[in-house]
Amino acid sequence: MINQDRLINTFFELVKMDSPTGGEHHVAEYLTTKLRALGFQTRMDALLNLTAFLPGKGAPILLSAHMDSVPPCHGIQPRIVDGVIQSDGTTILGGDDRVGVAAILEALTVIHENHLPHPPVEIAFTAQEEPGLIGSTALDCSQFKAQWGVVFDYGDPVGKIILSAPGTWNMDITITGRAAHAGGEPEKGINAIAVAVEAISQFQVGRLDAETTANVGMIQGGVARNVVPETCTVTAETRSLRQTKLERQKKTMVRAFERAAKKHRAKLDIQLKHAYPLFRLPARAPIVQHVSAALERIGRAPLLGVAGGGSDANVFNARGIACVVVSMGVENVHTTKEFVPVSELVKTAELALEVTRSV
Ligand SMILES: [Zn+2]
Repeated sequence: MINQDRLINTFFELVKMDSPTGGEHHVAEYLTTKLRALGFQTRMDALLNLTAFLPGKGAPILLSAHMDSVPPCHGIQPRIVDGVIQSDGTTILGGDDRVGVAAILEALTVIHENHLPHPPVEIAFTAQEEPGLIGSTALDCSQFKAQWGVVFDYGDPVGKIILSAPGTWNMDITITGRAAHAGGEPEKGINAIAVAVEAISQFQVGRLDAETTANVGMIQGGVARNVVPETCTVTAETRSLRQTKLERQKKTMVRAFERAAKKHRAKLDIQLKHAYPLFRLPARAPIVQHVSAALERIGRAPLLGVAGGGSDANVFNARGIACVVVSMGVENVHTTKEFVPVSELVKTAELALEVTRSV
């Protein structure tokens, strides 16, 4: 029932519209027109999050994908080479996440033109997902009645169901010591870089266990070789699939900086931001069963998995809507080598159709 040519055409139209984070209006307006033609009532908020509603019979379902892309994403020129959709190599493709958007739209079009029975359908096409779920975090989720949903936003071949994704603490640390001549009177200085290094040496980075990671991503400080550096800034994060571990690791990292700063009488400023909450659904959760059955109907074996990063599903789950994330066959995301096979684009639309229509 999926119309492959129409689907490819929609996907091409979508990626040809520039949609950087914060500049999603072309895509949002295009989708508003399309959804209204399919009978949806639509709403757009100040951040350009687009929500849409179609009445139906049964338990409402939320379908979601994000509209923004990471750079370089201006002037995307999609093309098909040997059954694979790619960019011209100067930009990303935008398959993350407009494969999800196009697949949902195609599924809704098929339901509309064939008068297929369906539950109430609720759509969240979010803005500003890429820099850290900004759109979904600001979204008024009280407009949704759905208690379950599917977020189309994962890379592997169609078949994967993400049940769990980590929560994250972001840390921006500024150490202020005292500048001094490095050769003449170093004892008058407080070396902010040395304080940072001492702190960082007190905790583990990388994979801490199967569920928890930590990273120091950036460190900046100093002005010249012969000056004791007055300031040093450190950008760090920790992620975990378990709340207790996440909090424990955050505390360990914060304490290490506090101790080192105190010892050397440096000033310390730590900005902590809970980037997004973690989520964990059990394999027996109704939405997992629902999506697994849909995958089996389209001939794909469901594969349950865990994500290493957040998506809008983290936000929806935190707001009480049990959402899984599904894979769409997009590879090399966030690079100019991003691609999606036509067959996976079609499978993603088939999946969107099967999770949405009543069976
Ligand atoms: Zn994405």
